[in-house]
Amino acid sequence: MAKEELECSFCGRKKPETSLLIAGLDAHICDRCIEQAHGIVIEESKQNDNNELSAELILRKPQQIKAFLDEYIIGQEFTKKVMSVAVYNHYKRLLQPPTNDDIEIQKSNIIMVGQTGTGKTLMAKTVAKMLNVPLAIVDATVLTEAGYVGEDVESILTRLLQAADYSLEKAQKGIVFIDEIDKIARKSDNPSITRDVSGEGVQQALLKLLEGTVVNVPPKGGRKHPDQKFIEVNTENILFIAGGAFDGVERIISKRLNMQAVGYSASMSENSVDHDNLLQYIIPSDLKNFGLIPEIIGRLPVLTNMNPLDENTLRAILTEPKNAIIKQYKKLFSMDEIEFSITDGALSFIVEKAIEYKLGARGLRSLCEEILTDAMFELPGSDIKKLNVTKVYAQERLTKTAIKKLKAVS
Ligand code: ADP
Repeated sequence: MAKEELECSFCGRKKPETSLLIAGLDAHICDRCIEQAHGIVIEESKQNDNNELSAELILRKPQQIKAFLDEYIIGQEFTKKVMSVAVYNHYKRLLQPPTNDDIEIQKSNIIMVGQTGTGKTLMAKTVAKMLNVPLAIVDATVLTEAGYVGEDVESILTRLLQAADYSLEKAQKGIVFIDEIDKIARKSDNPSITRDVSGEGVQQALLKLLEGTVVNVPPKGGRKHPDQKFIEVNTENILFIAGGAFDGVERIISKRLNMQAVGYSASMSENSVDHDNLLQYIIPSDLKNFGLIPEIIGRLPVLTNMNPLDENTLRAILTEPKNAIIKQYKKLFSMDEIEFSITDGALSFIVEKAIEYKLGARGLRSLCEEILTDAMFELPGSDIKKLNVTKVYAQERLTKTAIKKLKAVS
């Protein structure tokens, strides 16, 4: 019997009529059908992209959001919890079907107060990564009122559009992290003082953005000018996260706590106050006394604080997060088939130096770079296939000049 001629199980073309016929378990498919099917897959995935956010968010409950944050961020339990709830509620708000009960869920914009290098930016980055939404990181110090030298607040949205590859839809569900929000505080708590351009004016300009409005955004940034095309960006569903060190706010907190202690001696007795970490007692009125206008504070309703990093936390940051610095070096060396290890003594030494020279978490990476540069230069291509970094090795590499250099850039 003549052998049955192979054909595409989808379109029926015989093998000679195709350029390629691929066999499956019980069927065949030709090149043309593959192309057609591929087109359908792409079309479908485009549509699914729009539903992706909803699908993702339905899957993640606050505890799961927190578990994700745990993988990347050491400690900061309180902020991680507050953040998980705020993010969950924010996106629940986005997904709410139209109702007629007049209950409108308001935005959960967040403000994080904590020293520099305690992980505020990392927190915003990790949330954006988890939600797979675009993130714009902006520095409040460069913002000025329209008409002054500096950037208009609209430039924030230009950055977000850029981060979203100019997809308006994605940008409108993105996250904006405004760093150094404390630097636009009013210089004096007396509102009658002559307007200060850099501070209160910028806060006023930010207000609308935070609340939700439609803004004409110059897509390429720069100043607005009459013949430039604008993109209309609606900020209603953009999550704003603000961060700042608020240097000196401890004094305001301490003063308030003392006054409370006098007023109601039982409510917070003086010796139950942890003076080493006063930030944990921060409340919105402290921010007002620092110089944020009440309207801004009202539009950043979720207030949280970051704890200073102690020795144990710094040590854990080196080795524990999913993309911990030490794990990164291990990977880098392994790409050259070099087995990298580091002793506990060396890790403690690095942490010690970061604390001694007040380099914070950001300094950990620079310290490691200083210690490992020689090895990263010499070992690839050599016969040495093992590197064990001990305390002595680290000490030898970390000369006084190296530390001076690190201090200068930190
Ligand atoms: P901030 O925005 O508060 O100034 P960053 O988020 O930029 O601080 O942190 C600086 C670096 O320190 C980050 O890249 C991160 O690697 C590390 N870091 C800081 N805090 C933590 C933390 N709690 N867990 C893990 N890494 C941290």
